[in-house]
Amino acid sequence: GSVLEVKNLHVSIEDKEILKGVDLTIKGGEFHAVMGPNGTGKSTLASAIMGHPKYEITEGSITLDGEDVLEMEVDERARAGLFLAMQYPSEISGVTTSDFLRSAINAKREEGDEIPLMKFIKKLDKDLDYLDIDQNMATRYLNEGFSGGEKKRNEILQLMQLEPNIAILDEIDSGLDIDALKVVSKGINQMRSDNFGCLIITHYQRLLNYITPDFVHVMMQGRVVKSGGPELAKRLEAEGYEWIKEELGIED
Ligand code: ADP
Ligand code: MG
Ligand code: MG
Repeated sequence: GSVLEVKNLHVSIEDKEILKGVDLTIKGGEFHAVMGPNGTGKSTLASAIMGHPKYEITEGSITLDGEDVLEMEVDERARAGLFLAMQYPSEISGVTTSDFLRSAINAKREEGDEIPLMKFIKKLDKDLDYLDIDQNMATRYLNEGFSGGEKKRNEILQLMQLEPNIAILDEIDSGLDIDALKVVSKGINQMRSDNFGCLIITHYQRLLNYITPDFVHVMMQGRVVKSGGPELAKRLEAEGYEWIKEELGIED
């Protein structure tokens, strides 16, 4: 499996330092959850890994299998095996979900080795069925008129279709009703293999009732301040974040 290594990552937005030395290693076969109060830099971490131009890396490194991710363009990051839900366009007029997926799959493959159409359709039908998505959605324009829940399902469909080595999922659970949450979790769980590692960023413990992480990390004030197993998420659900602040002497 692949290894994504984030070391001593410092990130600034408009000259304000948001991430103050984040260390995190995600390996194939592992599910990591990052939790933490609002505004502690969780999405900034995802955006920095994704290569969002607004986020300036001032110190530290991000590597994928030893390759410098920070040197890669956004599309190169995807070709290298990273999946970043947010990098996908929210709406593109005139492009169907099916066309979009096929070109995204082919963009990851060598020229002349495009996925055979029948093979693509077969896997797409199977994944649509698995995620309980209406077949019609694949022929609709990407995200156009999709409900919040449909967009999230579509993201998981992209995940299952692109089969990345490492995925970063930021707030994939926000705004989902319980049925959509179950479907989204089912899709992510189905990806579990030695060739797939995942960083699940969430504000709520709820998602982790359906996806059991191997590691749970708590971020506060731009750093990972505590790591543990699934029991850490349970304790956060029951007790909130105050006890960690007290334990570590963190002031607001
Ligand atoms: P989280 O995802 O943990 O809620 P964020 O990474 O979204 O936290 O935000 C961390 C901090 O960075 C917050 O103080 C937020 O106001 C600030 N921030 C995030 N994105 C931007 C941006 N595009 N421009 C300015 N400040 C930002
Ligand atoms: Mg936020
Ligand atoms: Mg966020």
